[in-house]
Amino acid sequence: MRRKIVAGNWKMHKNLVESQALVTEIRGIVRDELLSNDAEIVICPTFLALPSSIKLLEGSNIAVGAQNMHQEAQGAFTGEISAPMIQSIGATHVIIGHSERRQYFGETSQTCALKTKAAINNQLTVLYCVGETLEQRESDAHWTVIEEQVRLGLQGISAEEMKNVVIAYEPVWAIGTGKTATSAQAQEVHAFIRTIIEKQYGDQIAQATRILYGGSVKPDNAKELFAQADIDGGLIGGAALKARDFFDIIQAAV
Ligand code: PEP
Repeated sequence: MRRKIVAGNWKMHKNLVESQALVTEIRGIVRDELLSNDAEIVICPTFLALPSSIKLLEGSNIAVGAQNMHQEAQGAFTGEISAPMIQSIGATHVIIGHSERRQYFGETSQTCALKTKAAINNQLTVLYCVGETLEQRESDAHWTVIEEQVRLGLQGISAEEMKNVVIAYEPVWAIGTGKTATSAQAQEVHAFIRTIIEKQYGDQIAQATRILYGGSVKPDNAKELFAQADIDGGLIGGAALKARDFFDIIQAAV
């Protein structure tokens, strides 16, 4: 039985004061209204808001993650943040390979593999994102694209290390567009990703690996998506910025 995860990707939204207000609101609702601890909850605010979010969430069941990191531990990489730095402030997760990083910052699956390795070496759980563009889906290239992203992004990751990897399937055409993959479309790809993991790591690890869906998940579609056999929760963008919506999505996972 895989424990579901609901992770919020705040992207480049909310200044420090706004972040603290949102964290406090989410913490309050989760504390007062969540009846079960069945799902793992993660929020990924901007780097600036990580330390205060961690402090505000002390003693709660909400974990905090970064949205990106550099693969090197330190060095002359102006503007970058490393895995040991993220780990040192008490963050536990990191998103790697988000499609916006791939699209706007030249992130490749090869760099994702290096980042994933560095994150795991620093006890971080990786939320590794894969997903096809609309053009790739329409030309039926999505199977090849996803397979390559999964294989290359996990290069050098051992079977033992896979327990620190969560895959997020996020079709690019569904991110921030209001277009959600149907639950059947998502399930089909999730099952496919599981077979890729199975070929590489065997059935036991494939069955244990969590695969999240991301792309316009909202309170009204979350339940159906999360009910699919191979969908183990969600990576949530826009709806994670509203405490009530985020909470309702968490409720759909428990
Ligand atoms: C995301 O950015 O990971 C995402 C899924 O965004 P949204 O939920 O807004 O589509």
